[in-house]
Formats: sequence, C-alpha cells, structure tokens
Amino acid sequence: MNNLDVVIIGAGAAGLFCAIEAGKRGRKVVVIEHANKPGKKILMSGGGRCNFTNYHIHPDCYLSHNPHFCKSALKRYTQWDFIELVNKHGIPFHEKTLGQLFCDEKSKAILNMLLAECNKAGVEIHLETEITKITKVDNNSFQLSTTRGEYICESLVAACGGLSIPTMGASPFGYKIAEQFGINVWPTRAGLVPLTLHDHDKARFEELSGVSFNSLVSNEKINFRENTLFTHRGLSGPAILQISSYWQAGEALSINMSPDINLETELKLAKSQYPTKLLKNVLSEYLPKRLIEVIIAREIADIRITELSHQALEKIADSINDWQVKPNGTEGYRTAEVTLGGVDCNALSSVTMQVNDVPGLYFIGEVVDVTGWLGGYNFQWAWSSGWAAGQVA
Ligand SMILES: Cc1cc2nc3c(=O)[nH]c(=O)nc-3n(C[C@H](O)[C@H](O)[C@H](O)COP(=O)(O)OP(=O)(O)OC[C@H]3O[C@@H](n4cnc5c(N)ncnc54)[C@H](O)[C@@H]3O)c2cc1C
Repeated sequence: MNNLDVVIIGAGAAGLFCAIEAGKRGRKVVVIEHANKPGKKILMSGGGRCNFTNYHIHPDCYLSHNPHFCKSALKRYTQWDFIELVNKHGIPFHEKTLGQLFCDEKSKAILNMLLAECNKAGVEIHLETEITKITKVDNNSFQLSTTRGEYICESLVAACGGLSIPTMGASPFGYKIAEQFGINVWPTRAGLVPLTLHDHDKARFEELSGVSFNSLVSNEKINFRENTLFTHRGLSGPAILQISSYWQAGEALSINMSPDINLETELKLAKSQYPTKLLKNVLSEYLPKRLIEVIIAREIADIRITELSHQALEKIADSINDWQVKPNGTEGYRTAEVTLGGVDCNALSSVTMQVNDVPGLYFIGEVVDVTGWLGGYNFQWAWSSGWAAGQVA
C-alpha cells in the first residue's frame, strides 16, 4: 500500500506543475501516468518548440461556461512567473508573433525543467500505471486500485487532460472521475482544429492545398487576424484554428482575404487609372496568383477592367473581402489541439481548484471547462491552475 499526501493523475503540463508546488510544501506526492513517458504533449507542442506562454495572457482569451473562473489562478501565477522559471533554468526562448513565446531549441527543454523541479521537490512519477478504481474511503482519504497496487492519499488531483490526440494518451478518465463524484461535465468538442469543407467546396479548392494567405476570419462572436491555409480537406492555419473554437455546426464564416485593402475602392480606382489592365493582373497585387485563378472565373479574370461594370467590381470585391464559407465540420480530436467543455467550473473553487462538495478532490488543466486561444494560452492555464491546486492539495 502506497500511503501518500497527494496523488496526481496525469503527468502532463498541469499535473507535473501541481506536483512540483505540492512537493515544495513537503507533501509526499506521486504522479500516476498511464502512458510510458511523461509530458508527451509538451514534447509535440508548438511544432516541437513548445509555445509555453504568451506575453498577453488575459481572461478574455479563454472560453468557458463561466468566463470569470480562470481569472484568479491566472492572476496569482502569471506568465511572468513562468518566464522567470524558464530563465532560471537558462532555457533560451523568443517571441514568435502576437506575444507567443517559443523555445529556441526543442520542447524537451521545458519537460526537462519540469522533471528536474519534480525531482528536487521529491515527487515520484509512476508510469504505465492504470487506475481501475477510485474510492472515497472516509472524509480524509481516497483509495486508488491500480495495476501497480493500492494507493491511499489525502488529496486527489485529476490532471488527465482532454480528448485531443488519443494516440498521445488522451482519455476521458477525468470526466469519468467527475461523473463518479456527481460533478457536472459540459459536453466536449474539439477546439483549435482544422475545418473541413462540403464536397462541392472541397473539389473547388483542393488544388489550393498548401496556399496560405493573410486573412481576417469572423463570425458573429469574434474575429481573428492571422493566416488561413487551404488543406486537402478544407481550411486550417492560425486564423481558422482560433475561430474553430467559436464555430458552431451549420454556421457560415466570413473570410476577408485581403484585410488591409478595400478592394471595391481599389478596383474602381484601377478601372479609371489603368483601364486596359486585365482584372487578374490588378488582383495579383493583393492576392496569391493561384488563389485568384480558383476564386475568380477565368472568363472574368481575363477581362480588361474597363469592361467590368461598377456593380460587377463590387461583387468581385465582395467575394474577396467577405468570402462566405460554410464549413462541413472539424477534423475532430485526431488533430485538435484542445478539448472545449469539460468539468463544470461552478463545481470548483476558482482559488484552489478543489471540488466544492468533495473536500480533497481537485481538477486542473484541460479537463476543466477552460480553453485558451492558440498561442501559449493553454499551457499558461495548465501552469496557473496546477500552481493554484499545488498550494493547498
Ligand atoms: C499537437 C498539439 C500542440 C500543442 N501545442 C501547444 C502550444 O504550443 N502551446 C499551448 O499553450 N498549448 C498547446 N497545446 C495544448 C496543450 O498541450 C494542452 O492544453 C496541455 O497539454 C494541457 O495540459 P494537461 O496537463 O491538462 O493535459 P495533458 O498535457 O494532456 O496531460 C494529461 C496527462 O494525463 C494522462 N492520462 C490521461 N488519462 C489517464 C489515466 N486514465 N491514467 C493516468 N494518466 C492519464 C495523459 O497520458 C497525459 O500525460 C497543444 C496540443 C496539441 C495536441
């Protein structure tokens, strides 16, 4: 029998960070992980360079049924605190864009830092361990039956992550624990995920696979100004990943393919200044040639601009400045970076992450109904919520 102060389920970003903090307080901590290695998602994150936080962390950059919930943890353990830790370990990093901080070298640097801190704090990590049963023994302890034997602990922290990338160890275990203890779980869906197109659009745009362009992508709730990328199945790129978290099935998106230019004005101006220019040559100043060839019918693209009426130019401008596209769906958890929904924040304390009605039980990280934007926001939530629980668990 393993007699412990704290058992943390999941050796991902949130679980390891919570373990460090609890261990530093002198608590006897074990992290149980069912995969053969800790921190697999950290290793694959940020294209292998871990976008570990963002200079502009703000509660408005998180989705949740309770948008206030994330505020306390994000305020108490901030991006500046994590940057300080990264600096202390001498890990070189840089800002890529929009405040996003990436390692100069491999993501492994961040995982090694967490493991070194775990080691220093006396944390044990038990890999390849499956939990078969969790029982609340009395008011002060939980018992876990596992493939490695029995564990008894005072505090149990669920840090099992969401459902994205099942091949990396993702499982619904955290939601199951919530259900076992009568805690509401909001329906989950894939977030930060490429969108697929209906067959007719897919056939039309397939040849553009690999083409990316500067864009402003909007729906009724929000807009994102970043690149959009055509893929074999549909649309991706940072602007699409961002809006995917806010997209509802059946909804159309507006994509402005030339967000700095009012094309209606420019085309009308070109008509008066360069009447003999072909439409496609005018447009090529603003858009990739391959894109023009697909979105503007050839018989129109090859017309001299003077031959096009103002009404026709308005329509052409509209198809570029306000392309209305109705995605078919998302690529799902297979490629999603995060899982939206999850353990209801209203069941937890926003200060400690402890379940209000089950003393000693905590939920942290992605399993909780808090989902960040693309750009380091999700790791910051993992650090901040892990830190918050680690102060008391
Ligand atoms: C491809 C990809 C790239 C990403 N890049 C970034 C990025 O650059 N920046 C950013 O901020 N976010 C990024 N994210 C999101 C980020 O990885 C997650 O938000 C973050 O890892 C969540 O941390 P977590 O600890 O809550 O969950 P996880 O990191 O998923 O950890 C959960 C752990 O629990 C374990 N587990 C699950 N079930 C059980 C069980 N039954 N028993 C024991 N253990 C279990 C899992 O194996 C896993 O190790 C990326 C995600 C993906 C998929």
